Amino acid sequence: MRRIIDTQVATSGTARGINRGIVLNLIRRRQPISRADLARVSGLQRSTVSLITEQLIRERWVVYGSTGRLPRGRRPTFLQLNNRRAILAVDLRPAITTLAVSDVNGRFLSQQSVQTPTNPDIAAKIFSEKLRVMMDEHPDLVFEGIGISIPGRLDKKRQRVVFAPNLKWPEFDLKAPLERATGLQVDMENAANACVLAEVWFGQTERPQNLVVVTVSEGVGVGIFSDGHLLHGANGMAGEFGHISLNEKGPLCGCGGRGCWEVYASNWAARRYYRQNEDSDGPSFPDLLLLAEGGDRQALRALDQMAQEIGRGMRTIIAGLSPSEIVFVGEFTKLWSHVSPVIEKAVAQSVLIGSPPRIRPAAAEPSIARLRGTVALVLQKHFGPAARIEERQHRFAERHSAAVVQ
Ligand SMILES: [Zn+2]
Repeated sequence: MRRIIDTQVATSGTARGINRGIVLNLIRRRQPISRADLARVSGLQRSTVSLITEQLIRERWVVYGSTGRLPRGRRPTFLQLNNRRAILAVDLRPAITTLAVSDVNGRFLSQQSVQTPTNPDIAAKIFSEKLRVMMDEHPDLVFEGIGISIPGRLDKKRQRVVFAPNLKWPEFDLKAPLERATGLQVDMENAANACVLAEVWFGQTERPQNLVVVTVSEGVGVGIFSDGHLLHGANGMAGEFGHISLNEKGPLCGCGGRGCWEVYASNWAARRYYRQNEDSDGPSFPDLLLLAEGGDRQALRALDQMAQEIGRGMRTIIAGLSPSEIVFVGEFTKLWSHVSPVIEKAVAQSVLIGSPPRIRPAAAEPSIARLRGTVALVLQKHFGPAARIEERQHRFAERHSAAVVQ
């Protein structure tokens, strides 16, 4: 038998790639884990598991961990992901950008924030410098790539940001200059989609299938995980529910339209409700939340209105996508017990048949969710497109495993 083991990354579509993805994800989810347990849980042959793990150890994705204890007999060697594999994560926001170093498990080793520059050229220069310094500060790590969450939509083919109304930059390319500066591959993803990846990879639900993430900040974004796949659509524009107009004569939106859902449901909208249409700036959104927490009635009313408006968008999302779970990401979730009954009611009223989708706030705070999503974005090239592996894929992979290792 001739073993084909090389360091080339298997594409996820081949039997070999699928098996590798299964094993890597099982190690990630259940680490530390023995080879015997990997074979048992995956349904793959012991020999297949051994070949794949040998390769993963050689490629330094996986390392030997602790030695397990059994009542008698041999002590199995446990495997775990190599914590020295690292990812640079960037959360680009209209006002503040966060840059972080994360290990393969989504644990952040260092993090810093900078004011978001006013144009993409300056941003590319500043981010390049910061990222290079961060790499220098961690000489013990093997950097895998850079993941960037963007407050806009991305044309995947051209890797250019084509729609970012709240960022107010022209169409831009961050990928090429950052890759030149760091020597690492850059992957970009829309912020809401990044939050979907964070949920699918690091979230509480083990095997999500139909999950929608609604991000509420300066705007409202929607990321769609449908039948186990992240949806992008043409020009990466799938999920722009925030720009569905609810009132043609409503306030002007960053997209150029009027009365979009996001001009009623975003943080900016809540601030407007608080000011009751007076011209003054009023409190920032975090301050508005503090006021509400302290029982300020005007702030609570503003939040109530925001929750009503978030609820108003649920009907479109539920009718269009039929998710089993809707996860909310945003600072407003800090007052979840106050806002959730309003949203829950709207969700219950939107369901035509069956039980309403579960709604909950994201486990991580917004910036961490987006950063974790970019970590998953970089890793998914090696681990496969999603954590979910279909039963039939196991069987397919097992049937073809002989061809894989011979
Ligand atoms: Zn709009």
